[in-house]
Amino acid sequence: MNDLFSLKGRVSIVTGGNGGIGKGIARGFAAAGSDIVIAARNKSKTAEAAREIQKEFGIRVLGVPVDVRQEDEIQFMVKQVLDKLGRVDILVNNAGINIRKNPQDYDVSEWDEVLNTNLRSAFLCSKAVYPAMKLAKSGKIINIGSMTSIFGNAQAPLYGASKGGIVQLTRSLAVAWAPDHIQVNAILPGWINTDLTRNARKAWPNLNERVLVRTPAGRWGEPDDLAGAAIFLASPASDFLTGVALPVDGGFSVMT
Ligand code: NDP
Repeated sequence: MNDLFSLKGRVSIVTGGNGGIGKGIARGFAAAGSDIVIAARNKSKTAEAAREIQKEFGIRVLGVPVDVRQEDEIQFMVKQVLDKLGRVDILVNNAGINIRKNPQDYDVSEWDEVLNTNLRSAFLCSKAVYPAMKLAKSGKIINIGSMTSIFGNAQAPLYGASKGGIVQLTRSLAVAWAPDHIQVNAILPGWINTDLTRNARKAWPNLNERVLVRTPAGRWGEPDDLAGAAIFLASPASDFLTGVALPVDGGFSVMT
């Protein structure tokens, strides 16, 4: 039974794994036995997260500085992973940003910034790991969406467009790559306590109260709250499950 959820012997790439939700998922994967690749821009934060996870869980951890907006950097990152760790079994497309404004106030460079970081990156990273996964006849890709994959948000239209796109990208890759034994699913987090939402709390002073009232569980999520669902979607337990967008939100998405 335990083997169903074991990630022993696997190699997992987590983009944006140096903090927040990505680090929570990386820690969960490490606890389940996977070697970990932390892929994010900030070199010192990435190296520090890699050191911390390696020390706590005793698995192999590689910190790779990469900007997921750049296809050449993604390709080089995957090459490094294959050279140094020998395989890639699991990819979590987690890196993401938000720019909060009224729709009419954005310029096109901001559209590119948000869409390239949140959506195009997921396509490019998935494309980069596909050859290794196809060869292995096995792979798990987990894309991180949002409640804005489901609902509108007046001050996050670009973010919402990227997160809506994540769900449709997930479904399309799931259909395309199912014959290769690669499962592609999405997790839609509710409101989680991270740097991203700490900035949102500064911008919207009543956000904390609104989240608590709107979330049936009556609390914010913590980064570790995403680990269980991610381990499930990365493990043999979910081998016949693909193309799903799973809310992990304390009930936010089912409350009227
Ligand atoms: P954080 O701001 O804490 O973390 C974002 C991560 O993305 C950082 O590790 C950052 O590292 C990385 N990142 C950003 N841009 C790039 C880039 N161009 N290349 C590589 N890495 C990048 O946010 P969260 O942990 O909250 O968010 C993680 C994901 O979860 C995002 O996709 C977000 O949209 C999603 N999400 C978050 C929710 C929440 O309530 N917190 C709710 C729903 C979804 P670095 O700066 O070093 O590159």
